[in-house]
Amino acid sequence: MTPSSPLLKLEQVQRIYGSGETAVHALDGVSIEVHAGEFVAIVGQSGSGKSTLMNILGCLDRPTGGSYEVRGQDVSALDADELAALRRQTFGFIFQRYNLLASLSASENVEIPAVYAGLNLEERREKSAELLGRLGLGERLGHTPGQLSGGQQQRVAVARALVNDAEVILADEPTGALDSGSSAELLNLLEDLHASGRTIILITHDAKVAERADRMIELRDGRVVSDSGRASAAKAPDEAYRYSRKGPSPIVQVLESVKMAFRSLRANLFRTALTLLGVIIGVAAVVAMLAIGQGSQQEVMARFESMGANLLFVRPGAPGTRMRGDAIATLTLQDVEALGELDNVLAAVPSRSSSATLRVGSNDYRSSVEGTSQDWPIAQKRGLKYGTFFTADDMDRRVGAVVLGTTTAGNLFDDIESAVGQYVFLGGAPFEVAGILEERGASSWGQDQDDVALVPITTGMMRLFGQNYLSSITIAVDDTDIVDETQAEATSLLLARHGTEDFQLRNTATILESVQETQNSFSILLGSVASISLLVGGIGVMNIMLVSVSERTREIGVRMATGARRSDILIQFVVEALVVGGLGGVAGVLIGFAVCFILAQSGMTIAVTTLPAVLAFTSALVTGLVFGLLPARKASRLDPVAALSSE
Ligand code: ADP
Ligand code: MG
Repeated sequence: MTPSSPLLKLEQVQRIYGSGETAVHALDGVSIEVHAGEFVAIVGQSGSGKSTLMNILGCLDRPTGGSYEVRGQDVSALDADELAALRRQTFGFIFQRYNLLASLSASENVEIPAVYAGLNLEERREKSAELLGRLGLGERLGHTPGQLSGGQQQRVAVARALVNDAEVILADEPTGALDSGSSAELLNLLEDLHASGRTIILITHDAKVAERADRMIELRDGRVVSDSGRASAAKAPDEAYRYSRKGPSPIVQVLESVKMAFRSLRANLFRTALTLLGVIIGVAAVVAMLAIGQGSQQEVMARFESMGANLLFVRPGAPGTRMRGDAIATLTLQDVEALGELDNVLAAVPSRSSSATLRVGSNDYRSSVEGTSQDWPIAQKRGLKYGTFFTADDMDRRVGAVVLGTTTAGNLFDDIESAVGQYVFLGGAPFEVAGILEERGASSWGQDQDDVALVPITTGMMRLFGQNYLSSITIAVDDTDIVDETQAEATSLLLARHGTEDFQLRNTATILESVQETQNSFSILLGSVASISLLVGGIGVMNIMLVSVSERTREIGVRMATGARRSDILIQFVVEALVVGGLGGVAGVLIGFAVCFILAQSGMTIAVTTLPAVLAFTSALVTGLVFGLLPARKASRLDPVAALSSE
């Protein structure tokens, strides 16, 4: 490249907005050459196409027609990322309205282009402090734009334009919003930059400002109407120039994005809190609901395990019958007798119960009265506290004998121990208290196992139940290794006796299975409710991200103008969504655990495991990612010019 070859070369450049009848020819065949080291003022009335020209010069926008070369390279051949690199390395923008990011300090604003150029934090800090110091803002590094005057803000913008050692400074009416003092200062600054070898292109409609430049180009209706021509000596553009696609390292990028994410979340605390709330509720719901589901499952399992694996249960009614067992009349005491004679059967115990009022003197107490046989203690593995259980003989003779649980006894007698041998009136007949059952306390599902009264079933059928059929038979098996064989024998015995399968025979394992099935669908139900709330939380994230993108369109424009690639913008917004998801996830897991803790304190069985917490946290992150992707993509696809000019 020779000294005479231009740095920037426009040839018959056109820029047409819209099409057809309403098409606006903002630039209509502009040919300009700008050499390295020039100080050019572009003047013209409002609407004459100055900003359009500036956007094309700065590679924020592409010509509709004609060609634009930077250092002999036709920019139409460059893709979006190469254009971003070109902007980052060659151009520094100064805007009329400063376009600083309000949530960042002066120093951080200056650092933005350096972030995209891949400088590390220390280098950036140093460089921005040095530049701001030179521009008289050494004391204001940590101030946000809101704490600076217009002139100071514009000097921050100048520093930002310089931080990547841009060769060309493009300033679009930089003094437009400044008072005369600050304007003069800024112009001096631009002159200094020019003197140090930089190429300055300055847009203004102020003739006095334009006079400070070496060369003046006047636009009218998108055409050059006058050009005072090159004044300063031509200088060769930097040779060692490459269009590098290199951007910041992924780590720097993510760290910066995380930092920005926290800034923008903090800038809208209330909104952030509401968004987080959605995610938190979702995650906490998943954690708590799954813990509750698993807890109740464990509880049910424990309950069945405590019953022992040696029991078989016979209930009346064909398999699949939904009717209540005690309403079906198929099981008899003769069945019990026959079952009791099978090999490997310790005892077959009949059962039928009803609720009845027991009375001693003037004491009334309503309890569950169960008719059973002398073998009940064997099947239930439960002994007596006082007295004895009724006997087989009592059964045969239909004696009025009763065995009481301690709760029932306590409600009827002042002294439980002396109750044995006394009489209780049941259904109008006297029953002698034969014994008091050993205490069991509440079952794990809250039923008081001591609130019972047991009578010989034969007596019960005659005097209390008005029924000669059983509501269940419990078979206690001796050797549990052959429980399946015993079950098969019992089944064929009952089949032979009844001629049809009008009963259901199950063992603890099959009952456990069906219980587990119910429990699983319960867990699935809880899980889906929780997932739906997580989904709602995700939609909240998306909503807030979309708002954030439209609110921060100008910020996105500034970032693009200072060299951000599309992927940089994409990553920034994705990271923001992930931060929301992650914060919500962590808080949600903690709150979920807290809820579990409180429920556990109140006596509920809660099974807190790490898996649901990990799953819920991961889904919060994924939710953030999925629902943040669309807004992030929207942001990254924004056109830099349109983004910059957004309100
Ligand atoms: P200046 O900066 O000299 O005031 P601009 O370059 O902003 O002028 O605009 C030149 C012409 O192009 C104006 O008529 C303006 O209305 C039109 N124009 C600018 N931007 C757009 C756009 N995005 N869409 C349609 N017309 C536009
Ligand atoms: Mg303009």
